[in-house]
Amino acid sequence: MEKLAQMDLSALAEHKFACLCGKNHAAKAHVLYGDASESLKAVLEKIAPMSKAALLCTRDAFYAEGERWMRAVRNAGATPLNVILAKKFDNALENIGGLFSLPDDVRAVIVFESALYDVASYFSALKNLPAVYIARSAEAENMLSPVVFLKIRRKTEFIYADNEKYVLIDPASITAGKSAAAAFASLSSAIVSLIDYRVRGVFTGEYCSESYNLARAAISSAVNAAASENAPLELLEARIRLAVAETYTDGKILRGGENAVAEFLEAAGKAPFSFAERKFFAALKLIDIYHAFFSLPHGKDMRVPDYVCRAKEVAAATGAKESVVLEGILKTAAAVSDERVKETGAQLLFEIEALKNLTGKFAATYYALGGNKELFKNYAPEEVRRAVFYAPDLPETFSVLTLMRESGALEYLL
Ligand SMILES: [Zn+2]
Repeated sequence: MEKLAQMDLSALAEHKFACLCGKNHAAKAHVLYGDASESLKAVLEKIAPMSKAALLCTRDAFYAEGERWMRAVRNAGATPLNVILAKKFDNALENIGGLFSLPDDVRAVIVFESALYDVASYFSALKNLPAVYIARSAEAENMLSPVVFLKIRRKTEFIYADNEKYVLIDPASITAGKSAAAAFASLSSAIVSLIDYRVRGVFTGEYCSESYNLARAAISSAVNAAASENAPLELLEARIRLAVAETYTDGKILRGGENAVAEFLEAAGKAPFSFAERKFFAALKLIDIYHAFFSLPHGKDMRVPDYVCRAKEVAAATGAKESVVLEGILKTAAAVSDERVKETGAQLLFEIEALKNLTGKFAATYYALGGNKELFKNYAPEEVRRAVFYAPDLPETFSVLTLMRESGALEYLL
């Protein structure tokens, strides 16, 4: 079998295979290169002939480009239905009305602003409609994600996305700007998730080496791409490759510690930062923490964590149901054994040490791409401590922090 990491991106997106991990993998995605209006026309002729296609965009983008995309929709023989949204989805109740009441004859959801990918992903999954992403920048957060989430009325709603996805890439129109820094931040922070995915594999048996290798290759190509002239396009492509690995593992490969810490940091800090940047901050912090945990000799702490109290805190902070949080905590707690923690630490320490030496380079690359220097001054130590302390308790998360919670190290290392 051809190595996944070496496959052409369009072929990889449509590839289906029976994996050694026991699952049948398919990303159910299509990547089309070329003029985006032409690609959009071709896609809609296939998925929405003689019907409606919802065009999701902000007011400013609608004035700037709405006409262009509406023309492409009409050229395909479909009718555009404009849904104008506010970027900060949670604060705009009109957003919810417009999307929940999409007419039944809408056959596709189209989005051309990366800031709205999460909204488009959520609603296309909810309505089981094909999503068409017109990629304009390196930023691809949530694009193709198998589990999509959106904050609606202050509560994070998750949904499993099994709908078809189309990504239209016109290489000449992929622009740089700040999105390259955010894309690099998102991709490079996933190195922590990959460590955690291996840890998850050791303790829970959930592991797919094909997905791991694909994700790892995508991350290293992103790190190398950052210095290239073509950085925005290459970062976008790496992000899509990573999303394919994410799909193969139902999102687990990216549900590591940095993801959970970033979720808790949303309500913290002096200024609001994107999820990608919060993950990046968390990842650099966690590399140090994981390193400290595995380098110090430690025995089992005699005190058992107060699971009920933790579940209460996490439920209150995230809006998740307390019983669901507690069930998740007990499940991960049961998977951890002291003996295995020692073995795993010995296997991973060398690698984490190498990453520790790279964190300065990652931060420098983020700045060179236009990243915000305030990121590393944005969170108070107490806010970071709290985020790291509760991060292992988020549902569906498994990380080195889970091992730290069970060994009592969370209390001491922070
Ligand atoms: Zn597999």
